[in-house]
Amino acid sequence: MTSKINWAHEWIDRSFSFYYDGQFKDPLNFRQTNYFELINPSNEEHIANIPIASQKDVDAAVLSAKRAQPLWENSSRATKQKTLMKMGEILREHAVELATLETLNNGKLYRESLNDDLPESSAIFDYYAGWTDKIYDHHIPVDSDRFNFTRREAVGVCGLIVPWNFPLLMACWKIAPALACGNSVVVKASEWTPLSLIRAFELWHEKLELPSGLVNLILGDAKTGQHLANSHSINKIAFTGSTATGRKIVESAASSNLKSVNLELGGKSPNILFEDTENFERAVERQYQAIFSHKAEKCSEPTLFFVHQTLYQAALEKLELLAKNTVLD
Ligand code: NAD
Repeated sequence: MTSKINWAHEWIDRSFSFYYDGQFKDPLNFRQTNYFELINPSNEEHIANIPIASQKDVDAAVLSAKRAQPLWENSSRATKQKTLMKMGEILREHAVELATLETLNNGKLYRESLNDDLPESSAIFDYYAGWTDKIYDHHIPVDSDRFNFTRREAVGVCGLIVPWNFPLLMACWKIAPALACGNSVVVKASEWTPLSLIRAFELWHEKLELPSGLVNLILGDAKTGQHLANSHSINKIAFTGSTATGRKIVESAASSNLKSVNLELGGKSPNILFEDTENFERAVERQYQAIFSHKAEKCSEPTLFFVHQTLYQAALEKLELLAKNTVLD
C-alpha cells in the first residue's frame, strides 16, 4: 500500500495542541510557550513546530485524568472491552496514514512503519481487550478461622513516557494495558516524534465517544516529562527510553509521592555464532537484519555479533555484501 505523503503534508500544515478533558487544548500560557522544531530525519527538512507543555499544562492534563479514573474503573468490563477493541480497530483502519506520519517524522522505512509498527500497535488493543474480564483476585489459604484474599485494583492515573524510535507502538503498549486494568493515562510523546500519536488521539477523538479525561496527551521535552514524573497526582510512571533518563525518573518518584515506576531501558545484547553452526548463511543474514532494521535503532535487536574466529572473515565478507546491496525504499 503506497503512503499518503500528500495527505501528510496537508495534515501537518497547522498548529498542534495537547489533548485533555476530552478536547484539544492550546497551551495555557500561550504567549510564553516554547516550541520544539520537528525535522524529517531523511532530508533534514523542517516539518512542524510542537508546543512544549509547561507545568500548568501538565497539571491540567493530570487533573483531567484524575477526574476520569474512578468512573472508568467502575465502568463495566464490557465497556472497557469494547472501547479497547475500537481503539485498535481505528488504528488498523488508518494504518496507511499513521505509518506515513511515522516515517515522515522518525525516518524509518515506510514498509517497516506499515508492516511492523502499525499491526502491532492495533493488535495490542485486541489482546488487552481480552484481559478486561480475566483479571482475577486471589484467595490465600490460611487457617479455617481466617479468610485472606487479595484484590486487584486499578493503580489510578498512569503517566506514560515514550521514546522516539517506536513512537506509536511504545505508547500503545502502555495505553492498552493501563486502560484494561481501570486506569486513566497521561501520555507524553517524544519531543522528536509526536506526530503519529497526535493523529491517533485525533482519530480516537473523532470516531469514538471516549469518556472525557480517560486518555490525555501532552507534548514536550525532558522538562515536561519531569513535571509528569514529579506530579503528586500520578500514581505510576511507565517509561521506555534511555538508562540515564530512567535513573532520573526513579529520583523524581522517590522525591515526590513514591509513585510506582516501571522502566524499559537501553540494551546491547549479542548474537553468538559458534564454530559448529549448521546454518551459517541464515545466521549472518539474521545478524544483518538485527543491525539494519529500523535504522539500527531497534532497542531489542542484538546489534553486537560475537563470531568464532574460524568464521570471522567469511561472516565479515557476507555482512559487507549484504550492506552494500541494501536498498532503502
Ligand atoms: P530518552 O531517555 O532521551 O527519552 C525518552 C523520553 O523521556 C522522551 O519522551 C523524553 O522527553 C523523556 N524524558 C527525558 N528526560 C526526562 C526526565 N528527566 N523525566 C521524565 N521524562 C524525561 O530516550 P530516547 O532517546 O527518546 O529513546 C532511545 C532510548 O530508548 C534508547 O536507549 C533505547 O535503547 C531505549 N528504548 C528501549 C526500549 C525497551 O523496550 N527497553 C524500547 C525503545 C527504546
